Amino acid sequence: MSAMTGIIETRNLSYSYGDGTLALRDVSICLEAGRKVALVGPNGAGKSTLMLMMNGILRPSSGEVLFAGQPLQYDAASLRKVRRAVGMVFQNSDDQLFAPTVYQDVAFGPTNLGYPAEKVKKYVGFALQYVGLSGYERRPPHHLSGGEKKRVAIAGILAMEPQVMILDEPTSNLDPASSEEIMEMLDELNQGGKTLIISTHDVDLAYRWADEVILMKDGDVIRRGSGPEVFMDGNLIRDARLKLPMVVDIYQELASRGIASEGKPPRNILELCDLLQPRGSVGDGSVGKIYICDADGSDEKQILAIMDKVGKGCFKGAMGTSAKLLAERCGIPLDFTYGVIDKCILKALIGKDALIMTSGGMVEHTMKRISDYGRESGAVIDAVRLQPL
Ligand code: ADP
Repeated sequence: MSAMTGIIETRNLSYSYGDGTLALRDVSICLEAGRKVALVGPNGAGKSTLMLMMNGILRPSSGEVLFAGQPLQYDAASLRKVRRAVGMVFQNSDDQLFAPTVYQDVAFGPTNLGYPAEKVKKYVGFALQYVGLSGYERRPPHHLSGGEKKRVAIAGILAMEPQVMILDEPTSNLDPASSEEIMEMLDELNQGGKTLIISTHDVDLAYRWADEVILMKDGDVIRRGSGPEVFMDGNLIRDARLKLPMVVDIYQELASRGIASEGKPPRNILELCDLLQPRGSVGDGSVGKIYICDADGSDEKQILAIMDKVGKGCFKGAMGTSAKLLAERCGIPLDFTYGVIDKCILKALIGKDALIMTSGGMVEHTMKRISDYGRESGAVIDAVRLQPL
């Protein structure tokens, strides 16, 4: 299947609950594989209902849902197959976690798929490591923090190796740091090739994170497009009982005062700063370096040696669970734990050096993001990949 194929598609999908509430009206959307999609809308817009249809938990009143081009079938065997491929993380972790231990909870999915015990063990181990909860196997899930419970729920889905992950309000009830960690984990999963679909009424989150925003109201999709495309229309957003993302709101005020030119709003603080202070006029014009260190390829001793050699005087950030855990083990104080690449670019632009610890595919992603930024903005930032010492 090519990257442009719809992995999940709905055609004229409508749904009424038993009491007659019409929750979805004739929704036709096609989601491409490998994207980060945010369903955005006020309470009652139909986001959860649409998600529950995407992996067959609810069956359409009319219309159909397709996975990888095939209409969903609702017999038990077909449903098992689609629920394995399209994993669903519920808004409230307590609705998802029920086993007495973390291990048993995460093992539930792969065990039900009929995997032999050894394979279950391997997949659970991998999933828990991915979400940063190795060592939590014997703990009872209901004693964990909100962020940890969310990680266990995600691990339970990951252990079944889904192609698509659907997360209903993944950050509701989490503190800001836990929310950022969860969203960053989702970024990492997306880098690894998974299609991600979240619902949220956090407009800042949707704007910043999603490749594609689907705006819903009263069971209808009223707009879809990139964050700037959907959130440029203040009236539409107000109509949907939402507000503008902060960066768009600031931009529109600046534009109305003639401080910023009218056009496409910036995606983030980095772009907003660039808009206000064009290239070349920042500080004395010297640009800092960004060092990138692969946490997977290094042990604690090597990391400490790197810190000793180049880390001094650098702003430091870590991206991804394994890099953050390594930084913690090494006692490295981190300046940035989310939005790390942009924050390091902002520092480089004022002549300061920065060091990013990350791992796996995120190393390449970081290098690319920095060079893309250089190409678009004209500020060439030296991204130096550090080899283990
Ligand atoms: P959202 O996730 O955007 O908040 P929902 O999909 O939960 O929206 O709800 C869409 C509509 O369906 C709302 O009018 C809501 O009241 C109704 N609804 C949701 N769940 C049920 C249910 N179990 N029974 C009856 N109506 C429901």
